[in-house]
Amino acid sequence: MRNNATVYLIGAGPGDPDLLTLKAARLLQQAEVVVHDRLVAPAILDLIPTSTRCVDVGKSAGRHTLPQTQINALLVELAQQYSTVVRLKGGDPYIFGRGSEEARHLVQHDIAFEVVPGITAASACSAYSGIPLTHRGLARAVSFITGHFRDEEQLALDWQRLADPQLTLVFYMGLNNLGEICRQLAAAGRTPTTPAALIESGSTPQQRKLISTLQHLPAAALREGFQSPSLIVVGEVVTLADELDWFTTRATVPEEQDYAFVG
Ligand code: SAH
Repeated sequence: MRNNATVYLIGAGPGDPDLLTLKAARLLQQAEVVVHDRLVAPAILDLIPTSTRCVDVGKSAGRHTLPQTQINALLVELAQQYSTVVRLKGGDPYIFGRGSEEARHLVQHDIAFEVVPGITAASACSAYSGIPLTHRGLARAVSFITGHFRDEEQLALDWQRLADPQLTLVFYMGLNNLGEICRQLAAAGRTPTTPAALIESGSTPQQRKLISTLQHLPAAALREGFQSPSLIVVGEVVTLADELDWFTTRATVPEEQDYAFVG
């Protein structure tokens, strides 16, 4: 039985409200209920009218306040009570966002849905840190990779393929496994001096970036206390980070090792 409800799976982008699509901003005004993740920036939640019901399902890697099955069930339940339901997710709903799992659940329950793409962390961090994901002569392809795995699993990736020097690698949810990721890449033949970067809270006023190399990034990240959400970018494109930096007003201060921290 189909009611008249529509569930909008909306990408909220990486944090800067100016990076919301017009469609997302409009739907946030029209929604009767908004179900959102922990990753959605407060500045974006502030755009939701105070009279709108908000449900925080507070997911973050490894800590699921509400299990995915319950989020799926909640969306179906809300679609039976309201006609405009917004499911707001950080970045893009279909990039490591489990949006497609929610969409499949809605299909199974014959509930109408639309997907509003959002600016994914890779695009935002790239633009705001001066690291293009591709650049003629430096990178001919880019891979978006999950760096998250459960304790009992290995990070089962095709490391040989990722060792291609003309491939930009972007790891989501990889901070906790940064050492292992860099070690595996070097073991597979990616040169240890390959430029590598970490971008924390990209596009927000709290953005920090760390420019280093495959061999030194893990130690530098520990020293500087980098936290989630952070994105790892590996590849020759990282060499452009200083030249193309428009977001940070302060200049890069090189330290004794081959890394620089830009707060
Ligand atoms: N759907 C989201 C990704 C969800 S996975 C998207 O398209 O962006 C969560 C991971 O995204 C985090 O662990 C982090 O690696 C990355 N991330 C999300 N927002 C970020 C931000 N503002 N800065 C840096 N990394 C971010």
